[in-house]
Amino acid sequence: MISLKDKIALLINIFLIATVACMIAACAEAPAEEDPDIIAFLNVNVLPMDHDEILENHTVLVEGDRIIAVGPADEIDVPDGAQQVDGQGRYLMPGLAEMHGHIPGSDRQEYAHNVLFLYISNGVTLVRNMAGSPWHLELRDQVDRGEVPGPIIFAASPWMSPNQAPEPDDAERLVREYAEAGFDLLKMGSISLEAYERMAETAHEVGIPFAGHIPAEVGLERALDARQISIDHFDRYVEFLVPEDADTEGRAPGFFGSGWIDFVDRARLPLAVDMTIEAGIWNVPTLSLVEHLETPEDPEEMIQWPEMRYMPQDILDGWVNAKHNFQARDYFQPEAARELVELRHELLRELHEAGAPIALGSDAPQFFNVPGFSIHHEMRMMVDAGLSPYEVLVTGTRKPAEYFGTPDEFGTVQENRRADLILLEANPLIDIANVQQRVGVMVRGEWMPEEEIQQRLEEIAGQTGGQ
Ligand SMILES: [Zn+2]
Repeated sequence: MISLKDKIALLINIFLIATVACMIAACAEAPAEEDPDIIAFLNVNVLPMDHDEILENHTVLVEGDRIIAVGPADEIDVPDGAQQVDGQGRYLMPGLAEMHGHIPGSDRQEYAHNVLFLYISNGVTLVRNMAGSPWHLELRDQVDRGEVPGPIIFAASPWMSPNQAPEPDDAERLVREYAEAGFDLLKMGSISLEAYERMAETAHEVGIPFAGHIPAEVGLERALDARQISIDHFDRYVEFLVPEDADTEGRAPGFFGSGWIDFVDRARLPLAVDMTIEAGIWNVPTLSLVEHLETPEDPEEMIQWPEMRYMPQDILDGWVNAKHNFQARDYFQPEAARELVELRHELLRELHEAGAPIALGSDAPQFFNVPGFSIHHEMRMMVDAGLSPYEVLVTGTRKPAEYFGTPDEFGTVQENRRADLILLEANPLIDIANVQQRVGVMVRGEWMPEEEIQQRLEEIAGQTGGQ
């Protein structure tokens, strides 16, 4: 017989043993570190973009808006509680830059916010906004503070046009005003040679770059001499390739030289390339701007492309009209248009092979270039021109970071870079179209899975009436 006293003692012992056992078990299971603020991409193939290699089976950790670790899966400890994104068989690359984009103005704020989302939905995490207003400076800062979802914005000033800057004094005053207001660069339009020269002098003095078009009177050589930071659309290259003694009397160069294509002397191409390299000037080709207008494709069919449902109807109507007008030009001939496109491909290839700096830009939302979506057309055209998918991706990732003088800030998948990332189902180095096979996009550390992106895109299509 066990006395009541012994029973109680036994129960107490069992209880104590159980308690100690529980404590040991709990102790063994206790997480070393809980960190729900960290997002981990697991077992992923990384395209670091600082060199041409795929880092297989890696782990990438993100905290706040930064990449905090990149390494082989068996070397990186993933903190317990971290949000995990399965990267098995997938590809992680840096976000892309649209180096010639446009963001609508303050008169259409809802459209502007939609455009910002269209960019990031496609993995475009940086936009050089090529002509703006003071409202874009506010928008730039709101995005930086995380109040409005969108890409990093670099904000160009309003156009330097002949109306705004008819005289050198006006050009000088505007440069000072725009620099003072906080614009990141000056957008060049067709000002006079004298106004351009004063603009350039003042811009170098106050330290603001200028970019965009080259005024007709200025021409390629003077713009290179003036150290215009980027030439967009390959503006004035065709004119430069036309020998001075060509009989161009009564013929306007037209849209990026399309009216002069038959005067081009290709033997001048190496000179244009050498001069560009010597000057160290960037080119932002915007192939898709020109090709969308110059191809014989029916504009009514072009606005049936899937991405067109995210654009307001009046914009689509404007594009259709523009293309009809374009095709009605007296000098428009499909053969000449095809030659222009080929010449532009050759120019891109030659500049690139010689080492001239090139940055990715499509000119959205101009002529059938739906923000974000148009970058995929642009990249395909660059591949058609002869660049490899890797080389094209460099122009949209590492190169823009170099352009801005901030190679340690973004553009590669490395520690301490901004967490602007695209996760893909398929390898973009095999087929550039795979950049559209998204699993999700990360913008300044915020992860947006594809379902979420599609939901928001549906809302935008609803607002525009797109079916
Ligand atoms: Zn533009």
